[in-house]
Amino acid sequence: MKNSNRAYISQLKDNIGQQVTLAGWLYKSRSSGKIQFLIIRDGTGLCQCIAEKGKIPDELFDALKHLGQESSLTVTGAVRADDRSVGGYEIAITDAEIISPAGDYPIAPKSHGIDFLLKNRHLHLRSQRQWCIGKIRHTLIDAIRRFFNDNGFTLIDTPIFTAMAAEGEQTLFEADYFGQPIHLTQTGQLHLEAAAMSFGKVYCFGPTFRAEKSKTRRHLTEFWMVEPEVAFIDLDGLLELAENFVFFIVKQVLQENRSELEILGADIPALEKIKAPFYRLTYTEAADILTGQKTKDFLANQLGEFKAQKNDYETKIADLEKQQAGQLKQWRKDKIAAELIELRSELAEINTKIENNPKHAKLAAEFQWGKDLGGSDETIISQMHDKPIFVTHYPKGAKAFYMKTDRNNYKVVLNFDLLAPNGFGEIIGGSVREDDYDLLLSRIEQQGLNRENYEWYLDLRRYGSVPHGGFGLGIERTIAWLTGERHIRQCIAFPRLMDRIYI
Ligand code: ATP
Ligand code: MG
Repeated sequence: MKNSNRAYISQLKDNIGQQVTLAGWLYKSRSSGKIQFLIIRDGTGLCQCIAEKGKIPDELFDALKHLGQESSLTVTGAVRADDRSVGGYEIAITDAEIISPAGDYPIAPKSHGIDFLLKNRHLHLRSQRQWCIGKIRHTLIDAIRRFFNDNGFTLIDTPIFTAMAAEGEQTLFEADYFGQPIHLTQTGQLHLEAAAMSFGKVYCFGPTFRAEKSKTRRHLTEFWMVEPEVAFIDLDGLLELAENFVFFIVKQVLQENRSELEILGADIPALEKIKAPFYRLTYTEAADILTGQKTKDFLANQLGEFKAQKNDYETKIADLEKQQAGQLKQWRKDKIAAELIELRSELAEINTKIENNPKHAKLAAEFQWGKDLGGSDETIISQMHDKPIFVTHYPKGAKAFYMKTDRNNYKVVLNFDLLAPNGFGEIIGGSVREDDYDLLLSRIEQQGLNRENYEWYLDLRRYGSVPHGGFGLGIERTIAWLTGERHIRQCIAFPRLMDRIYI
């Protein structure tokens, strides 16, 4: 490989007028007789490279013309700025070397259903969308670490094998540990509490496992969660920490990944609004909203909008189907086929929304104090707000054993969920932890947990117990919210779902 003037696409702005060599893969190509336009990707971006007949050997010109999508190659040529080009620069090819030709690449740009793409995830990762999401994920994780590292938190790696169930036994994955049944961790929190009593402010960041049997767009069986835990903090302090933290990570992504957000069609103005203070509602206030007239009107109005969208999609689809029946060039047929796949999937989605609307309205109207907020309830509250919403003080019975009972109202706990706005829903769950030995023990017993497994956890209340708390933020949910991806399975390179583990 000719490496002398090797450049990366992301750095071409520093190489205008110079002769460089790019090494990458053929993303797309199009030919118009004497000129070929090759879009090349090299892991840092896309660049249009132009081969002109007569300027390179005929043999090479022909070889490039027949080169399949995703073939690997190097191209050499002069860099010029061109606003109309993807990425803003172009290369006028003077030489090229085909490294490994690819034939019949299974994923043509933009024309496959989600099932097919998930089965081909190892290849689909090369698509522009997945690449943008991967870049945003990278920034997000970097920003998360930076926030905690710069604010006096110490990173603690909590175990993945554990004997405990912190988040409900129904979602535990069991493993065989030398003949003993144990679990994959659902949260690092309990161990993190022990560490907070040593370091004061700590966080863990790792994979988390939950045997989620329901197929929702917000649940994976393996996801990544960052969890801070702080000694000497109350609920207000926690909300302030979460607010500063979310503001910081959103700001970093907006700063570093604006072009990726644009390509993904993210709602950038909505993200720019994410500033403190976020909205604050108690659970009781949220319940009142759900059962009130405002929600009824809101959902009725929404149903009207959905129906209008449905009509719109149906008209567009009928129109394309009509065009498809006529005499068309192959490229035009392919384009229509791809558009139809997208429109039909949008239509299917809007139909589901129309079907679900009355069900959600009924669930909201019949919501009873004491129940946990369901996914649809959260969505409704979230749709009604344009900034994140803290929902605090949930009924004790709906929440985990470790949450601190509110001493002013024994029916509720000092906890919060943070709902991302505009319909996305929960991204953070957190609480102040019960620091009283007797109250904690009675909660462990009430929930039928095996006390033996929790003796060490009780020790934290025996020896220098302090008010403390923390929260967990799901990485994939945060990415889905920021990018506008509908399903969190797109927000991790190799998603694990109940029915999907192959790649
Ligand atoms: P939900 O009610 O939506 O299932 P949860 O109450 O179980 O969430 P927590 O236990 O509070 O969630 O976990 C903290 C955060 O971890 C959530 O706010 C979410 O961002 C993320 N999270 C929880 N479960 C999953 C999952 N199965 N897949 C992806 N992210 C998850
Ligand atoms: Mg859950």
